[in-house]
Amino acid sequence: MSEEKKIAIKKIQATGFLRKIMADYFYELNDAAKEDSPKIAWCSSVGPAELLLSLGFLVHYPENHGAVLGSSRTANDYIPVANAVGYSPDICSYLTSDVGAFIKKETPLSRAYEGIEGIAKPDVLVYNTNQCRDVQDWFNWYSRELGVPAIGISTYRNIGKITDSHLQGIVQQTKDLIPPLEKISGNKFDIDKFRSVLSLSKDCTLMWKKVLEANAAIPAPISFFDATIHMGPAVVLRGSPQAVEYYKVLLKELEEKNAKKDGAVEGEKFRIYWEGMPIWGKLRNLAEFFIGFKTAVVASTYCNSWIFDSFDPEDPFMSMARAYTEIFIVRDENFKEKYIEEMVRKYKLDGILFHDAKTCPNNSNNRYGMPERLEKKLNIPSLTINGDLNDLRCYSEEQAKTNIEAFIEQLETK
Ligand code: SF4
Repeated sequence: MSEEKKIAIKKIQATGFLRKIMADYFYELNDAAKEDSPKIAWCSSVGPAELLLSLGFLVHYPENHGAVLGSSRTANDYIPVANAVGYSPDICSYLTSDVGAFIKKETPLSRAYEGIEGIAKPDVLVYNTNQCRDVQDWFNWYSRELGVPAIGISTYRNIGKITDSHLQGIVQQTKDLIPPLEKISGNKFDIDKFRSVLSLSKDCTLMWKKVLEANAAIPAPISFFDATIHMGPAVVLRGSPQAVEYYKVLLKELEEKNAKKDGAVEGEKFRIYWEGMPIWGKLRNLAEFFIGFKTAVVASTYCNSWIFDSFDPEDPFMSMARAYTEIFIVRDENFKEKYIEEMVRKYKLDGILFHDAKTCPNNSNNRYGMPERLEKKLNIPSLTINGDLNDLRCYSEEQAKTNIEAFIEQLETK
């Protein structure tokens, strides 16, 4: 088992279409920034994007840029730059790499897309603290730097059962965003536009969910590592027809793969769950490593986090408040444990891998005894690897791979 084999990752044909719609998205933002129209909002990844789109904003997601910095392995060039202006190496490395890149006036998008020289500057910054406090601090940094307003929604965290009293305040905070956003965009809020964007977001969500559920098949047609790339439209293009169209194409391909039993891992032997953030700079490396051990990373909390089941165009404010509050990261330990339990059953998994991301405690769910409780309850092994989403100084490849190998041996003996 110790020999690392060189194995090619199977191609997904829809990737060409994905590249095109992502390129169109970045060029549209770039053009709008040059012409100062339409206005640009920066939004946290599970922030009120549908409201912004309905008011005519183009939306940039700094976390998406953080992931680009991570996957292009440039994040470590920039993290120290943000550390030097007072942002600790222990806080979110999306934040520190993005702020560092801004200070250095660089972006990997310039290398990927000819003619794009920088990130389109915002007219407003809009966050929801449902995921963490870092997004607020991150946007406040840009607010001071660029002299544009940072406004947002403060959400409860660690919620078990969600009640109307949790949601009423979020609904009101969302409505309170409308007057300043109308002023900045120059457009009047239109409830029908809002409903129609929400409806497109719902369609995107439902298609993305089906894509992920295609992996209930044995063998699984797409790996977690590929899914983190293919989730791009669910993050940055939700609320647009392109995202819906894209997932129809991807789903069709995965269904065809399922019909032929063409798994992402040839000879799939083990199926595991990835809990926590991706290690963006090591996606390919880890994908190949797991293929070498005939182990499919089938399902994850991370990719599921862009499923917003509750969107309802008939009740747009309340349903949006609900959808952005019921996501995994907002919930308490009991909810999370049950959720993972269900995932293990649904996807017929043999083990759970927890990624303890040094700079994101919010997405590191191994720290309060959950692996031990789940092992006992489900009678399957778990493994925790230490690493980070973007800061590769926190990740020891040798140690992680030794541990993964031992974990797979454990699955074999079971
Ligand atoms: S949830 Fe984690 S990775 Fe995402 S912005 Fe917050 S601290 Fe950063």
